[in-house]
Order: sequence, then C-alpha cells, then structure tokens
Amino acid sequence: MKAIHKIYGMLAVLVFVLIGLIIGSVMSEKPTNHELQATEDVAQSYYPGIQIATEVEEKTHYHSAVHYPVFKGDQLNETMTAFVEREKGRYLEEVADNEALLAERGWQASFYLTFDIHPVEDKLYSIVFSTESYVMGANGRQTSKVFMVDLANDNFVTADDVIQVNEKTRDVVYTILKNYFDTSTDYKDMFFDDLLQEWIESTDFTNLYLSANAITFKFNKYEVTAGAAGSPEVAIPLKDVRTLLTEEWLTRLKIDDPTEENAETDDAPVGEKEEDDQQTSVHNKKVALTFDDGPHPENTLKALQLLAKYDMKATFFMLGSRIDFYPDLVQEVFNQGHEIGNHTWNHKQLTKISDADIKEEIDSVNQRLEGIIGESATVFRPPYGATNNHVESFLTVPSVLWTIDTLDWKTKDKEAILAEVKENLKPGAIILMHDIHATTIDALELVLPYLEEQGYQSVEVSKVLEMKQGSL
Ligand code: ZN
Repeated sequence: MKAIHKIYGMLAVLVFVLIGLIIGSVMSEKPTNHELQATEDVAQSYYPGIQIATEVEEKTHYHSAVHYPVFKGDQLNETMTAFVEREKGRYLEEVADNEALLAERGWQASFYLTFDIHPVEDKLYSIVFSTESYVMGANGRQTSKVFMVDLANDNFVTADDVIQVNEKTRDVVYTILKNYFDTSTDYKDMFFDDLLQEWIESTDFTNLYLSANAITFKFNKYEVTAGAAGSPEVAIPLKDVRTLLTEEWLTRLKIDDPTEENAETDDAPVGEKEEDDQQTSVHNKKVALTFDDGPHPENTLKALQLLAKYDMKATFFMLGSRIDFYPDLVQEVFNQGHEIGNHTWNHKQLTKISDADIKEEIDSVNQRLEGIIGESATVFRPPYGATNNHVESFLTVPSVLWTIDTLDWKTKDKEAILAEVKENLKPGAIILMHDIHATTIDALELVLPYLEEQGYQSVEVSKVLEMKQGSL
C-alpha cells in the first residue's frame, strides 16, 4: 500500500505534461508575410485518452507558446479550448494596445500557457493550467486555473461535488490554510491573513484540485501573499480533510480508514528530485547524455519525450538567452528530473573576454534560473570547451567537458551520430549532443534503445562525476 502511494506521489511530482510521441506535425508559413511563423503539434500524453496540443507563434512583436490537453469527449474539449482562447485573446489585446510602443522599443511580448496533469484515479484527472504573459516591462501577469476532468463521462467534476461547501467547511479550510501559511518557512513572512479571510468568505473553491492522495489549493500571485511568493500551492493530505468530503467522494476515493498510513502527499516542493532506486543495479554501466545550446521549443520537448520513454535522465547545458525565451521549457526539463547546466548567457569564448564579462556570462544564467526553478545550475560547461584555470576560478560548480563528441552539429546524420556513440561507449562516458537540431533528436531515437540493449543507463552528469570520484 505504501509503495503504491509512493508511486502515485512520484507520478504527480514529475510533471508528465509532454510525454509521448509526436504523431502529427504541421508547419505553416504564410508566404505573403515572412513575419508570421506558427507551428502546431498534437502529441500523445503519458495518460490514455489525453493528447497534448502545442501551438507556437513567432512574430516580430510577440511570441506565444500554448500547450493544452485534448480529450476524446467534445464537452471537455469545448470548455478547454474556450478557456485557452480567452486567455490568449486577453494577451493579444494587450499586445495590440501596446503595438506602437513595442515596435518603437524593439521589444517582443511573450505568452506561455502550459499545464500539469495530476492523476486522481482511473480516467479522472486534475488539469492545472498556468499562464504567464509579459507585454511591457518585466512585471508580467501570472495566473492559474484548475479543471478536474472525468474522461469516462466527458464532464467536469466541480469543487462542490467533492467537498461540502458550507460555513463549517469554510472555517475548517481557513484554519488549515492559515496554519499552513503561518508555519511555512517559504511563505510566513509574505502571507496576509486579512486577504485569506476575504478569500475564504467569498470563494467557491474553484482553485481546488484533487490528486491521488491530497487536495490542493492553488492561489494566484498576490491573492493571499506578497508578489515575491509567486503563486502558492497548498496540498493537504486527504486523510486530514476527510470530514470536508461529500459522502460520494469519501467512498470514491476509498479513504475510509483514518488510521491508515498514507500521509505522503503528491506535493513535495516543485522539482524535488526523487531517489534513484535503480542506482545499485546499473552502477557500472552509467553514462551521461548531455545536450548543449538549448532549450529549443520543439526539439527539447521531443528529447524529453524520448528520455521518459526509455526512463533515462540527461543533463541540459542551457544558454541564458534561450532560458530567458523559454522559461516554461526550463521548468519542464527540471520537473522531469533532468539536470540543468549553465552554458553561459551568450555562448562567448570565455578565455577571450574580460573578467567582468566572464562573471556576467556565468552569473546572469544562474540568476535567471533561480527565478524560474528556484535554484541555480549544478554543473557548468564552457562554450567550445574553452576554459583554463582563470575561467574556472569564477565557478562554484564542476566544469564538465565530454568524452564522446557525437559531432551532431556537423554531420547532421543520425547514423553517423549513433556510430560515434557505439565506437566510444564505456561506463562513465559523457556524450555531447545539441538539442537544437532535429537530426540530433532522430539520432536520440536510435541511441536510447542502443544504450538500453547494451545495459547502459543514462543519468545526470553529476552522478557520473560522483561515480568517477568514487572509483579513484
Ligand atoms: Zn555550446
């Protein structure tokens, strides 16, 4: 029983938003307008009955990347697409209002709409959308929206199906949440009790969602905390809120035994890495796949899907300039348990620039990463592999080169890339690839099954470094 809860917990901690194979891809470009570029993909998700639509638009004055789920049922789809269109419409209006100013300053507005899937039980999922938009200046808008979907009946489950919404419920929920915020090291200094009191009096609990063993309350930025707290999520184990649940859901969620040990919630802090349970069995045959110069809106996602399929981990040495452009992708890579490395902001050759510039190239990436995933990079890779003792003196994390150069950027040939790996593969190998090229992803489709066949496991590069240190 415990093991099952653990597995559900891990499933939900990992955000399985974009797993599966790309089954259709359409690239459209209006020949009359070279400004406009739009791509649309539909991918199968990890969960049966849920596909993932991705729409990316690139224009001179704005960028947008939208991900939303597609179900088999029309009713679910209509509501979902209406929500997506409303959110994007709001952003486009804002862009239109500011178009002259954006053009004058040469700025590009950006919009990211993405979602997490939390499984509750068979055919029942919570879908949690997050929207981020930046039109003018750095202070963007961040909101979230929760849907609980019942795939079997093509309908939504609402908060008042799940909990008894009455005065007593409000009192209990208020007490639980206040206690949470008052004692949370992350939020206690940024929490406003009067805002929570206001919220509890008027809420219809549309920010609530179920997962396998918790009820989570998701707040928007500024709703009950200061802006610096972001959008807090409070997960309460189901066993602690059983008195709030309706009879129907008490039965449905099978939480009839309050003494049962099931306190593990699915809401460990975002990005908390789970233990590598397979560490001992594959100890000798660990290698590290590493990807430089990304993230890339299509190819990095495809790499993530493939890595998930083969249950392998990789390290992504990202450029700050691209992190800045695709924060949702960075979060996704992190959520799926891969390692994020610093590859400098602008890919300059560090051995040829001033000290101030070296520092800036390295530190700016870490600052941006902290703003997105809450931590800085755990490893560093110098552009072109160009480094020396002086450059290294600016680093606080290991600088990692490679042992297998697949030359993927040069050959752009999947068979040639696989051949480089085959020829040089051995335990502890560090394989260099670039997730910005489509041919590299084609090669990954060959490399991953090859590694598996040969009994190799790709892990985060830090783990390979540890292994090497351990064997010295
Ligand atoms: Zn590079």
